[in-house]
Amino acid sequence: MRHKSARCLVTGGFGFIGSHVVERLLEDGHEVVVVDNLSTGRCENLAEVQNKSQLEVHEVDINDAKRLLECFAGVDWVFHLAALADIVPSILRPVDYHQSNVDGTVNVLEAARAAEVKRFLYAASSSCYGIPDVYPTPETAAIRPQYPYALTKYIAEEYVLHWGQVYDLPVVSLRLFNVFGPRSRTSGTYGAVFGVFLAQKLAGEPFTVVGDGTQTRDFTFVTDVVDAFVTAAQSNVRQEIINVGSGSSYSINRLVKMLEGQVTYIPKRPGEPDSTHADISKIGKLLNWAPRTTLETGVQCMLENIDCWREAPVWTPDRIQDATKEWFQHLAKPDPHSSQTK
Ligand code: UDP
Repeated sequence: MRHKSARCLVTGGFGFIGSHVVERLLEDGHEVVVVDNLSTGRCENLAEVQNKSQLEVHEVDINDAKRLLECFAGVDWVFHLAALADIVPSILRPVDYHQSNVDGTVNVLEAARAAEVKRFLYAASSSCYGIPDVYPTPETAAIRPQYPYALTKYIAEEYVLHWGQVYDLPVVSLRLFNVFGPRSRTSGTYGAVFGVFLAQKLAGEPFTVVGDGTQTRDFTFVTDVVDAFVTAAQSNVRQEIINVGSGSSYSINRLVKMLEGQVTYIPKRPGEPDSTHADISKIGKLLNWAPRTTLETGVQCMLENIDCWREAPVWTPDRIQDATKEWFQHLAKPDPHSSQTK
């Protein structure tokens, strides 16, 4: 079904997931307004679409309420993806995370309310489940953020739903599980596993497998996530929290086999679940969405795009130990809610 073209505002449009959302919306014939402060986003991420006439770019911080509001003129759909990511920096700079992820979200909600937008989609994080009791994990599972990033993304989700409840903003919160794909972060601090492994592969260094590598993750390919966002925008569903995952869970050992290379082992990290695995029955029912990209196909695509990670930092066990010091220092305490022994 062809939908009428909408004016879409994407916060974090220069980021990993945001840039894929922008490309897809342009492809579908929509107008796109990107709002990004370029703190972690990269201009190169939109290089392929930068000259499109339906694209408008604003280097604006979501905490700059006045300039943000100006960007919202005539906007129909909002995709709110701007946020600070990663665990370690959130432990080091919790106030920055609060300001970007919570205060920033409140500003985006207020601008969306003033502009009377028709749809508001929030990129929430499955990290709110912490170490779950139930697998596959449904949206109703207990909330147990293990570090400030997870907490701020969850509190912002509560704000989003509250604006839906109180002000009738048509909101949907999508809880994303381990998103991967081209342009997943290539610089900066120690973070998501794909960037770490691909840079190691290019440098001929061994893959740093955490623990014994039997832990499993629900790796979700970015174009499937984008499809979930667009489908949610086109729907009438509102005031819902919806998991977005592949619905499968693969071990790190299996992943390194697919990537092919030497392996070295590094210590298990505190606060990490042994598994993430989304229950995706709700999104199937509400949005008739299902993932299309298998891990094999996704990995193939990453290997074809491996040059993206040519400039990325190469993490060795020593550098990781140094970069994760605070992680071990602050999170290595027993979780009173956890049913797992670590
Ligand atoms: N991982 C790994 N080596 C690394 C980084 C991560 O084996 O150098 C593993 C980690 O233990 C986890 C998975 O990869 O099981 C995904 O880690 P990531 O930090 O990407 O996401 P999260 O832990 O938040 O699910």
